[in-house]
Amino acid sequence: KAKDEGKNNYRIYDSSLNPDAEERLEIKNSLRHAVDRNELTVHYQPQIEVGSGRILGLEALIRWNHPKRGLLMPGSFIAIAEETGLIVPIGEWVLRTVCSQSKRWQEAGLPPVRVAVNLSARQFAQNQLSPLVQDILTETGLDPAHLELEITESMAMQDRNWNTLAELKQLNITISIDDFGTHYSSLSYLKHLPVNKIKIDRSFVNGIAQEPKDEAIIMAMLLVAHRLNLTILAEGVETYDQFSFLHRNQCDEIQGYLFYKPQSAEQIEHILRQHSPEETLNRIKG
Ligand code: C2E
Ligand code: MG
Ligand code: MG
Ligand code: MG
Repeated sequence: KAKDEGKNNYRIYDSSLNPDAEERLEIKNSLRHAVDRNELTVHYQPQIEVGSGRILGLEALIRWNHPKRGLLMPGSFIAIAEETGLIVPIGEWVLRTVCSQSKRWQEAGLPPVRVAVNLSARQFAQNQLSPLVQDILTETGLDPAHLELEITESMAMQDRNWNTLAELKQLNITISIDDFGTHYSSLSYLKHLPVNKIKIDRSFVNGIAQEPKDEAIIMAMLLVAHRLNLTILAEGVETYDQFSFLHRNQCDEIQGYLFYKPQSAEQIEHILRQHSPEETLNRIKG
């Protein structure tokens, strides 16, 4: 069968894949209709408090249920969505979906968690970001204390974004810096900007127990974050060695396959219902 399909026999898509020109054009065209056709969906990955094992938050991660290609990861379409500007309506859809989902979980009596949404640079350029966030919070009835927005260092560095950031902060939501330490940037924005949290990029976490330089950089990040009263989370934690290094060095929160992979809303609801912090910490020692 695979042979008959010839060049229509598409590869499995993942975030590491770089689609070629023909594929990109096809993705671009079908992405235009993805929102209307209800093909986009949001998965959620738990964020765990290191000391207690409690679930403090969830990161919302978009997926695309492509009619022909199956479940696509953001690595195969987010860049295209940004280039075409489609990220603006898509980003709005994500925000609305996540806020109403979170509100429904609370109404169903689940323990309250913060939900983090990734923002793209194009959404900032739109300039109507904070009124939009305010409208969605009002419309869904979600307490802003339960919403977090993730921005990148390059977005935080640009002074034309600073007004918008200040406006967002006034809504009492949490703002975090994603993929911290991976871009060529200065630390001085941490001093001026209303940022609450930094997320150590997976590339540093990978080096724990293997590359002393990565460990040194992580320890410096932990020190800076805590001295500045910022919460610090480590991304991409996959091994117990990584966890125990982060625990020993007082990292606040952890997100990674060691605890949970990103999962559908239904699966997350189940996890939130039966989650036991002690069991979670015991499980990973395995
Ligand atoms: P990110 O915000 O840095 O998200 C973390 C990525 O690391 C996710 O990939 C997640 O599935 C993956 N991950 C989590 N734990 C582990 C682990 O232990 N090991 C490994 N190897 N990977 C782990 P995903 O879901 O493919 O998302 C990729 C990127 O796409 C995100 O990186 C984010 O930059 C972007 N993205 C996702 N959803 C949205 C969205 O709604 N809007 C925008 N603008 N960007 C999004
Ligand atoms: Mg993120
Ligand atoms: Mg990240
Ligand atoms: Mg990223």
